[in-house]
Amino acid sequence: MPIRIMPPELAIKIAAGEVVERPAAIVKELLDNAIDAGSTTIRIEVRTGGQDYIRVIDNGSGIPADEIELAFQRHATSKVNELDDLFKINTLGFRGEALPSIASVSKMSLVSRTEGERNGIEITFEGGVMTSKEARIAPRGTIVTIRDLFYNVPARQKFLKSTTTEQGAISNIVSQYALAFPHLHLTLVAENRTSFQSPGTGSLLDTIRAVYGAEIAGAMLPVGRQPQQEQEADNSQEATMQQVGGQNGEITRVWGYTSRPDTSRGTRQYVNFLVNHRPVQSQNLSFAVEDAYRTLLMTGRHPIVVLNIELDPRMVDANVHPQKVEVKFADERNVFIAVQQAVRQALSGYSAVPSINPLPRGSEQNEEEQEGLQFGPTYVARPIPEMSSQPQEAAGPATPQSSIFSDSSHLDSASANQAFDRLANGSTGAQDAAQVGSPHEQRTGAGQVVESRKPLPPLRVIGSVAGGYIVCEGPDGMYIVDQRRAEERVQYERILAALRHGGKGISSIAMVEPIVLGSVSDTLRASAAAFAKLGFVGVAAARITAVPAMLANIDRAQVSNLVDEMVAAMLRQQDSSLWQSTLEIILAQGIASANAAPLDIDKARELVAQLEGCAMPRASAQGLPTIILVSKSQLEREFKRTGF
Ligand code: ADP
Ligand code: MG
Repeated sequence: MPIRIMPPELAIKIAAGEVVERPAAIVKELLDNAIDAGSTTIRIEVRTGGQDYIRVIDNGSGIPADEIELAFQRHATSKVNELDDLFKINTLGFRGEALPSIASVSKMSLVSRTEGERNGIEITFEGGVMTSKEARIAPRGTIVTIRDLFYNVPARQKFLKSTTTEQGAISNIVSQYALAFPHLHLTLVAENRTSFQSPGTGSLLDTIRAVYGAEIAGAMLPVGRQPQQEQEADNSQEATMQQVGGQNGEITRVWGYTSRPDTSRGTRQYVNFLVNHRPVQSQNLSFAVEDAYRTLLMTGRHPIVVLNIELDPRMVDANVHPQKVEVKFADERNVFIAVQQAVRQALSGYSAVPSINPLPRGSEQNEEEQEGLQFGPTYVARPIPEMSSQPQEAAGPATPQSSIFSDSSHLDSASANQAFDRLANGSTGAQDAAQVGSPHEQRTGAGQVVESRKPLPPLRVIGSVAGGYIVCEGPDGMYIVDQRRAEERVQYERILAALRHGGKGISSIAMVEPIVLGSVSDTLRASAAAFAKLGFVGVAAARITAVPAMLANIDRAQVSNLVDEMVAAMLRQQDSSLWQSTLEIILAQGIASANAAPLDIDKARELVAQLEGCAMPRASAQGLPTIILVSKSQLEREFKRTGF
């Protein structure tokens, strides 16, 4: 075929495909327009996942009658005038593409009236061709109605997912915009039923409650300083927190909410980033958040996060994605660090000895429930965070006692810098998360509070019970240490110490008779170096002739089982950057399980003392709690003490 310039109708349909690939993208563009027009109330109505019908009603500025036709021309916009404007965008739209694109693939009507005009005007299009334009009585603002989406682009129609899926995507968009603009009154009506309404109080937490429910809202920690606190701080001349200077002295402000580590989800869907109020997706920023939670969440769990990232519009390029759902930062590292530190600081007020809580918190028992407590299982172990009483404290500098990161290096930008570098080098950083790849991962899938650098309280060992638990007395009541997990932590830190400080790896002892492996796969050959570092010699040749010296007192059958476990884990683990840490954890677990015999009181004391000496005494190698607390008040409540 000879080269030809395509006819304009075709060109616009192709361009439209990029902007409006699905109904949710249209809802997004229409919301952008309504918000840019200064609306305070926006109603969105959809039917059949938006395919048959989308209507957006706003109370914004409206479009002047003499400009309404122009709004449907390509590149017609009231928002960007000259090239320079493109580099300091403070509106959601800027390309002048949405209205013509949507019009070209649907039957569309737009009714609009400005404050100064008596009559509104209605303009209709079919397949991008104007079919009518007439005066109409109309409220101030704009009503856009789209029918029969993609009726003239059957190819695109085929790519639409089920009505439920498309509807879900629309709900998602509306939720994101509600979170981005808490002062807006947004209503979503799907199939003639109101499915969502934002409170419009201006409070982000109120909006989080409306979007995600009271339980999640109740489990959120404030990040940075909320805008109203900001104002108060300005009055009192206080320094503002969470501001990180960038290369040009510009300020990145990060604020919002992030969930306590005991409240997490199995997907990243609940992670929201709002860059100058624009909802965006960003793998980098997700990683910054996850890095801040490192060791607090099990692998595969994600926090619920709503973060506002505010910075000079000149430092953000919003013009990098057809649907404007990604942005590019001039100083990616600066933003990464600001986000990571803000979240980390929010979490720093959080300490984590999970306690046993026989009652739902805050609920008063009635007689019947008290009776019931005498029978059946009464305890539900669950982590109770010791929250700082004033939320704003969480935004302040962490005091060593209240911080999970009492090692202050974890709060400075050096660690954030390293995290960013790991990301830039294509590694996920997950190798530092102790639980990665551990064989028990599936069994412990729940999001849990897991690891803390906080030292243990002073403990008096009382004895060992039930063949594996050490009962202790401490300042707040009764503490129970899980022997196996404590042992695992102690061994794990021994291994890390031997690796990191010794430098040369772990010393080996020769086997009297080698352990012969069934066969050697490529994976195993490739992971031989990781084995060797831990003191296992001969993996590549399928004959293990020496093992770590720390296995010297463990019988051969157990060592052989341990090796099998490690080999199996290597075959499961696709990501070779995780091999070393996976092996470290399994080795620690193997030694712990070999030492699992019931302890007499001296041995129990010795183990608790060793645990006290650990850098992260409150979590096992794979990130599970080593210690739980039954508080004095819980004991009193359980025994119904009333003061005598
Ligand atoms: P853009 O938003 O990129 O400017 P659009 O095609 O979405 O491009 O809209 C074109 C123009 O139409 C906008 O610049 C704006 O002036 C006007 N417009 C569109 N929707 C609305 C609305 N709901 N209220 C007021 N003006 C609107
Ligand atoms: Mg627009």
